[in-house]
Amino acid sequence: MIEDKNQEHTSLGSLGEFGLIEHLTNKFKTKNASTLKGIGDDAAVLDFKNKSVVLTTDLLVEGIHFDLSYMPLKHLGYKAVVVNLSDVYAMNANATQITVSIAVSNRFSLEALEALYDGIHKAAEVYGVDVVGGDTTSSKTGLMISITALGEVDLESVVKRSGAQLNDLLVVSGDLGGAYLGLQVLEREKQVFKVNPNSQPDLDNYTYIIERQLKPEARKDIIKLLKDLDVLPTSMIDISDGLSSEIIHLCKQSEAGCDLYETKIPLDPQVISTCEEFNMDSTTVALNGGEDYELLMTISQKDFPKIKGNPNLTVIGYMTDARNGMNLVTRGEAKIPLTAQGWNSLDSDSES
Ligand code: ADP
Ligand code: MG
Repeated sequence: MIEDKNQEHTSLGSLGEFGLIEHLTNKFKTKNASTLKGIGDDAAVLDFKNKSVVLTTDLLVEGIHFDLSYMPLKHLGYKAVVVNLSDVYAMNANATQITVSIAVSNRFSLEALEALYDGIHKAAEVYGVDVVGGDTTSSKTGLMISITALGEVDLESVVKRSGAQLNDLLVVSGDLGGAYLGLQVLEREKQVFKVNPNSQPDLDNYTYIIERQLKPEARKDIIKLLKDLDVLPTSMIDISDGLSSEIIHLCKQSEAGCDLYETKIPLDPQVISTCEEFNMDSTTVALNGGEDYELLMTISQKDFPKIKGNPNLTVIGYMTDARNGMNLVTRGEAKIPLTAQGWNSLDSDSES
């Protein structure tokens, strides 16, 4: 956003490709038993013994998935790791390794890439994963980051999207809608800043939702909690596109229907107050706002006593026969079909 005139700007060309890779990766130390060889050879060597391996990958493109005018590079590095780990946890697996591939243009300085790698390093520390490789190449325009994450799980503990059964409870971790609203606040401040570059944004009322957008966390703690409670969900998915679209995935792949209760959707007070300020409906935001990275799961009714009253888990509905369809039961007790708007369409709604 604001170029710091005092900050150093070392050109990437001055290090050369190998110097750059060495400089960015020399901090990474491996810690998982399954990592036999990390960065530094032609390929990493891993040994998962008798465990099953889950693998997931994501590609993030500047201007499409992130905007560097309000996303600090360190946060971007952290978030790029977190969104991948979230997919590993959504399989009920323990994340163990990642690879990081980047394409950068020469408009980025060494210091900028250091900031990106600080964020990657931080996330790898927090979640206990090893960075075991990657690739570095140039780009003519923006920045691209591709992260692949691996995790390990006992085969019988894998939780897919397709296992939900009739009458299972629909359960969500944390609260919803914050990340999308945080983005709305940041977009608004960006427009204000364009008009008046001397304006100092006052973001005190939005700290929680901005953090949800800029520094999301993956729910590793929920995977541990479920294990401690001895609850194996029948199906699970992470919420990247919005509650509505993720529920539809679970229902379709499980060949089930569901009733979701509007009054049960967990919302942070800051989400409610900001929705009022922006004149948005908080249910719409929770259903269609993306990037919360909470876990949505179904659990058998017999497990209800184990999760009852747990502040991290909220029962928001239950699974029905597919013929019932997928419905939102509103405050007024009307049943309306859920639709998968996703947050892109929410975006255009709010601008029109
Ligand atoms: P190769 O030519 O075989 O692709 P590289 O010189 O690209 O090898 O990479 C050398 C080592 O550094 C490899 O272990 C590779 O996985 C790792 N590596 C390269 N780029 C990155 C990066 N951006 N982040 C993390 N590790 C990287
Ligand atoms: Mg390479």
